[in-house]
Amino acid sequence: MAVHAHPDDESSKGAATMARYVSEGVEVLVVTCTGGERGDVLNPTFALPEGHDMSSLEGTAALRRVEMAAAAAVLGVRQHWLGFVDSGLPEGDPLPPLPEGCFALVPLEEAARPLVELVREFRPHVMTTYDPSGGYPHPDHIKSHEVAFEAFHAAADPERYPGTGEAWAVRKLYYDHGFSMDSIRTVHEAMEGAGLESPFGEWVESRTAREIPERPVTTRVPVAAWFPQRDAALIAHASQIDPNGFFFAVPRDLEADVWPWEEYELAESRVPLPQPEPGTYEDDLFAGVREGAEVSA
Ligand SMILES: [Zn+2]
Repeated sequence: MAVHAHPDDESSKGAATMARYVSEGVEVLVVTCTGGERGDVLNPTFALPEGHDMSSLEGTAALRRVEMAAAAAVLGVRQHWLGFVDSGLPEGDPLPPLPEGCFALVPLEEAARPLVELVREFRPHVMTTYDPSGGYPHPDHIKSHEVAFEAFHAAADPERYPGTGEAWAVRKLYYDHGFSMDSIRTVHEAMEGAGLESPFGEWVESRTAREIPERPVTTRVPVAAWFPQRDAALIAHASQIDPNGFFFAVPRDLEADVWPWEEYELAESRVPLPQPEPGTYEDDLFAGVREGAEVSA
């Protein structure tokens, strides 16, 4: 189960991992907390398909449902809307208040309840979401972390959230780390070494200069063979993703050569795991789970 804030987040964070596990027979469910109805058009080449309008929250949500369905089909995943309303990314100084009724303002127990119910019904062995910072400071990303963390813990406790089904203990909780400094720097240096213009120069310099603390990476899942599916899923979110943007600036053979992984941080585990040697990584989100999965399923 992959918990995300908006439609398109599943395609930019961990998409190749999901496509890989689907190809191995794992049932993958993407949970999208909001409808993405406050997303702006971020693709300068985007042409609004006939019959759609993005002048209202409902119109935008309807278009994004169509895009999400196309991305889910590319990745081979199931997808479920949690039903909350996009909070939008507040901008300005001072920041404007969040819009009434938006996801970020829903009290935690109310926001987590449908996810607890879904966990108890779908019974995932592994859950992925964002780290406590949200990965980037969008209020819906921070809230997605909070509800996923709450659901991971509460769904296992039969006393919590009565009326939402039988308790289920998800075995492992991971945080997506799609853009670790290590990955950006490695790709950046490889592009410069190949005489190509890297889109990450400023990023590398500003992050290094600002000394932004890095979250620990525990796990690298090899997924290069599924990069084409990840890219096609991104493109399916046509209003949001610029096909000439930085996601597509890196030649894929170079990426597969120097950075064939998607990275994660193991945040919680209910299965015993070996202590990794320093400098080594777990390479499978289901490590330690497969052995017991048959019995408990
Ligand atoms: Zn998002």
